[in-house]
Amino acid sequence: MVVMEQNAQAPLYIKMDEADNVAVVANDGGLPAGTVFVSSLTLLEHVPQGHKVALGDLKKGDPILRYNEVIGYAAQDIKAGSWIEESLVKLPTAPELDELPLSNKVPQALAPLEGYTFEGYRNPDGSVSTKNLLGISTSVQCVAGVLNQAVKRIKAELLPNYPNVDDVVALNHGYGCGVAINAPEAVVPIRTIQNLATHPNFGGEVIVIGLGCEKLAPERVVPGCDKGDIICLQDHKGFDAMIQKILQEAKVRLERLNQRKRVTCPASELVIGLQCGGSDALSGVTANPAVGFAADLLVRAGATVIFSEVTEVRDAVHLLTPRVVSEEVGQALIREMKWYDRYLELGEVDRSANTTPGNKKGGLANIVEKAMGSIAKSGKSAIVGVLSPGEKVKQKGLIYAATPASDFVCGTCQLASGIHLQVFTTGRGTPYGLAMAPVIKVGTRNALKEQWPDLIDVNAGRIAAGEVTIEDVGWEIFRLILEVASGRKETWADHWGLHNDLCLFNPAPIT
Ligand code: CA
Repeated sequence: MVVMEQNAQAPLYIKMDEADNVAVVANDGGLPAGTVFVSSLTLLEHVPQGHKVALGDLKKGDPILRYNEVIGYAAQDIKAGSWIEESLVKLPTAPELDELPLSNKVPQALAPLEGYTFEGYRNPDGSVSTKNLLGISTSVQCVAGVLNQAVKRIKAELLPNYPNVDDVVALNHGYGCGVAINAPEAVVPIRTIQNLATHPNFGGEVIVIGLGCEKLAPERVVPGCDKGDIICLQDHKGFDAMIQKILQEAKVRLERLNQRKRVTCPASELVIGLQCGGSDALSGVTANPAVGFAADLLVRAGATVIFSEVTEVRDAVHLLTPRVVSEEVGQALIREMKWYDRYLELGEVDRSANTTPGNKKGGLANIVEKAMGSIAKSGKSAIVGVLSPGEKVKQKGLIYAATPASDFVCGTCQLASGIHLQVFTTGRGTPYGLAMAPVIKVGTRNALKEQWPDLIDVNAGRIAAGEVTIEDVGWEIFRLILEVASGRKETWADHWGLHNDLCLFNPAPIT
């Protein structure tokens, strides 16, 4: 990355690669027409922050290069110093999946980082927790109303007696009945529900609330669980009996969870999810590269790092397939891309349906530009494994978990994969959070941190202003992960109790 001017007050643009013919304006509020940069480039019109300026004259049809990648083609002649707003960028086709290089530039492993630990809970199966939660699963949406009332009572009447338990979480979802349960793709929501029910932050404790007549039998939520772990509402006489039964079973488990104490665990036991939401053009300049640096630190410490979001990887997949450790992993990555291409085709759209009005306002012209910034989260390590949506992770190192890019769906899928904590980057700003695992939010711009000082945990915007480096913020994120995983620091989302609903990915028919 070439930062043209170090003074935050001076006009500043950021060019990601020497070969680029566009750069993004870094100054808060953008820059007016007539602004002259150190390079002597003069703006012909106002360019908002994060938006692109043409560094030289472009002819209609010329490739527009950012990150030394073609993010589009000039829709008309464009003069140097012009604002390249989205209508001037023609979308290229997505990389051809059958012609990708596989495993031909596998990054060398970086030096291991020894001695990093956190204070976590040790689970009976050997895994660890970053929170000590009572999770109450459900087999069907019908029970959500009753469970929500029960959880209200548990929090008010029981939880204060168990100070070592952090919270009670109802795993409500929209699945379980009225669905084509034997459709091939039904495997996705079903395994997601199963893997959520046994999330490591629940410490091995299980309760499943079922109705009694639903398609997804409660026994299937946690295969092999004790009969005593299942409460079927149709087996109880009236509302109060249901609530009493749930409270009674919750109490038994709260007593056990309350016995648990934090112990020192190696950082290698952590599973960290990465996601972005409400991205802007600075996402790929500040927050995502800093998260990528932190991801490399985690991999060096022996941990598991999961990145996701198919539609934000699709246009950059040619940059990922060389990094996979084997042809087999490469084929798995391509299989997930193809599956998603087809899924989108059935809905008569393609990956370009991903970008939001906010992305565009933030300077992202299209999904190609968004994807180039998005994959920066994955750092520079080799990709050792690929998961289908909602599959549980079983490997250390950098893993690609195929999920929709939708924040709440990706969050749910990554929880099912077993993340202990999620790092979430945002440019436009979102109060997003998860009940089952802490979410550290990293902002891309100084102005966002100023606007939301009590929602954004880490401000990567200082990178654009030249105040700190990508490496500085990467280390800050890495250290904060260990603090939050240890329960020593609280994220803003947890501080305010901002927790989004679980939102299953169900690509199968609803009946
Ligand atoms: Ca997302």
